[in-house]
Amino acid sequence: MGIFDRLLGRGKEIRCAVCGRVWKVPAKIDKEPKVIISVPRPDLPSGQCPICNSVYCQGCATLGKGGFFYMCPKCNEQLILTHEISSILSKHTRPYTPK
Ligand SMILES: [Zn+2]
Ligand SMILES: [Zn+2]
Repeated sequence: MGIFDRLLGRGKEIRCAVCGRVWKVPAKIDKEPKVIISVPRPDLPSGQCPICNSVYCQGCATLGKGGFFYMCPKCNEQLILTHEISSILSKHTRPYTPK
């Protein structure tokens, strides 16, 4: 990880525009984006703003009406779930297993 990966052009990263948290985009991108709505997790990205192209973590994005989607705090626009963000979410979200 780090400078060598960047020099080799591996491991694209996405960064939260507010707090600077960085996520590595998995090499395998999901073909079909899955929308995962759960408890807000600031350690995961929420989406990308279609206007300013900023990405926000779930802690920095504004929660929309009803809490079913996230909004851009700057543009007040609904964030979209790109394939890259969807892949990060599915990589970090484990299926719910009841105890
Ligand atoms: Zn953030
Ligand atoms: Zn925006």
